[in-house]
Amino acid sequence: MGPPHTTRLIDGFGRQVDYIRLSVTDRCDFRCVYCMAEDMTFAPKPNVLSLEELHAIGAAFVQLGVRKIRLTGGEPLIRNNVMSLVRRLGQMEGLDELALTTNGSQLQRLAPELRNAGVNSLNISLDSLNPRKFRSLTRHGNLDQVIAGIDAAVAAGFPRIRLNAVILKGRNDDEVLDLVEFARQRGIDIAFIEEMPLGIIDEHDRALSFCSSAELKQLIMRQYSLGDQSDPEGTAGPARYCHIKGSGDQRGTRVGFISPHSHNFCHLCNRVRVTVEGRLLLCLGNEHSVDLRAVLRAPHSTHQHLLDAITSAMSNKPEKHYFDLSDEPQIVRFMNTTGG
Ligand code: SAM
Ligand code: SF4
Repeated sequence: MGPPHTTRLIDGFGRQVDYIRLSVTDRCDFRCVYCMAEDMTFAPKPNVLSLEELHAIGAAFVQLGVRKIRLTGGEPLIRNNVMSLVRRLGQMEGLDELALTTNGSQLQRLAPELRNAGVNSLNISLDSLNPRKFRSLTRHGNLDQVIAGIDAAVAAGFPRIRLNAVILKGRNDDEVLDLVEFARQRGIDIAFIEEMPLGIIDEHDRALSFCSSAELKQLIMRQYSLGDQSDPEGTAGPARYCHIKGSGDQRGTRVGFISPHSHNFCHLCNRVRVTVEGRLLLCLGNEHSVDLRAVLRAPHSTHQHLLDAITSAMSNKPEKHYFDLSDEPQIVRFMNTTGG
């Protein structure tokens, strides 16, 4: 048995918050069709938290009992000098897990440095293995560069690597088995994510392109034998994983399903998000938030003010999200702002 839970962050429904997703930029070198509009307006520079401010927020959460930080964005690895923040967080006492979500475009260059800096876990987005389709889904992405990045990450020896794929009907649903095989050959995990209605996009109709986790699972089971669904690492996360039985590699590839529509995971929620403008978002699917930038930049601001603001924010964490694809999105912020 591990030590008793020490988080001081407990919400009004008794859920313990021990995980934050910290967005280090809302900017990105891609424009994925489900995440962004083609023409985006990003946060004005003066509103963007400095690396020092991001570090102060991370430190405050860890002091309050958070054990895991995931750096995300936008594309976290295009933020100037982001490695200095990663190195500092990697050495932070009390932090058990430093994770990063990336589109992989910079990984060929940065994978070994990230590993040495203490990143234990990487999520890398990959929606297609067809260069033309990959380009059409990401608008700017180069598939060869991303695959080279994934292979560099595998070679760097991260304890956990998971591919993330958002599947859209008629676009990349014919590639599900190829994506599983790609992960299996590398001994890494893969998660399929149902598209969420975050931000207003006009590139496709989200209701028409919706692919449920249940149908993807059925499709995968035609080719692979999947074990029971489980959460062996106790991540209490939204992904429900199945092992591929008979995977050749030691640990075995797991296939995860993240189903915000078809399987509500809110009762297990242990996380909050902080945008790069310092907005503490208490739920992915609600607008409840607290302005930590205002706290940080107030005259005579102290570290204690930050700790107090975070602690008292917990009572604003909503019970659950309600996503409805048949209507205009209630959440107008895009995923790159939210920090996926
Ligand atoms: N740029 C990095 C990346 O793509 O991995 C990190 C940020 S991105 C917002 C994080 C994750 O959110 C990605 O795996 C992406 O596929 C997913 N995502 C973006 N928009 C989404 C949406 N509307 N619904 C579901 N997942 C989405
Ligand atoms: Fe950029 Fe990631 Fe959003 Fe794609 S999903 S546009 S890579 S932030």
